[in-house]
Amino acid sequence: MKNSLIIGIDIGGTYIKAGLFNSNGYIIEWKKISSMIEKGRDAFLKRITKIVKQFEENRTSIHPVVGVVIPGILDKKREYVIHSPNLNGWDNFYIKKSVEDTIKKKVVLENDANGAALGELWKGKGKKLSNFMLLTLGTGLGSGLIINKKLWIGEYGSASEIGHTSIVPGGIKCGCGAKGCLEMYFSSQAIKRLVKKVLKQKKKTLLRKYIPLEAASPETVYKVAKKGDEVAINIYREMSRYLGVAISNVINLLGIKNFILSGGISNAFDLFIPFVEEEVNKNLFYPFSKDFTIQKGALGNRAGATGAAYLALQAVKKRK
Ligand SMILES: [Zn+2]
Repeated sequence: MKNSLIIGIDIGGTYIKAGLFNSNGYIIEWKKISSMIEKGRDAFLKRITKIVKQFEENRTSIHPVVGVVIPGILDKKREYVIHSPNLNGWDNFYIKKSVEDTIKKKVVLENDANGAALGELWKGKGKKLSNFMLLTLGTGLGSGLIINKKLWIGEYGSASEIGHTSIVPGGIKCGCGAKGCLEMYFSSQAIKRLVKKVLKQKKKTLLRKYIPLEAASPETVYKVAKKGDEVAINIYREMSRYLGVAISNVINLLGIKNFILSGGISNAFDLFIPFVEEEVNKNLFYPFSKDFTIQKGALGNRAGATGAAYLALQAVKKRK
């Protein structure tokens, strides 16, 4: 058991990413396949089985528990999906039992941002930290909160939804139904909206060189901003104000000082982080010193699967 290999799976709306890890958290094998959620749950279960079988092939020492993380709200017991905007048709899906029955192994289930936080805690920038919040900056804005080296899931099991904390009362309508959620102001959705807005105005910007769809991607806006384009820089500056306010709220509320950024938009870290820090500094309650740190995660898009493997490892330890 001690030297068995652990499977960690990160299910996304677009891809399934899966790693075979050794007990020290090093990746032995990595797979990334389309998730094809639109083909239905049975097709998904077949794809998961295929991954697990491929990992098991010619190997005798596979860990008895598989870790799975998914984007969505889970019940407190981690058995089913309450709601997932990315996984269409999965609401009320008892995913834990379905996967267990299909792969004939025990499964531990967690939300993907929580998984990424656990991944960074185990093998990334959180290794030496006791308390931190991880934020995933992508299509949406997720987060995972680590307190005393443990994941905090709260009374309902769905704690740390900073993306759905209100940042603008009565603001833009969010996919969750509420108005003014942070996710509407810092995410690739926000970038799309802001690019659309500036392209309608008469401002001079290199963003016009791109077809609208391409111009609206976080990577293009970053690339253009790095060339010194003020309009593109301002898009990141504007978004960063909201993220800065949200982070200062977390510091003022919880007194934690470490933040780790993950997800696609974290690739623009060097561009936007000075704006975020400036805003955090403006809003800190006076007892809090300004020695907070916001850093980019170390594991990139492998953080979720790494956290899933960590959970699987912990699950067996707990049972012993
Ligand atoms: Zn929301």
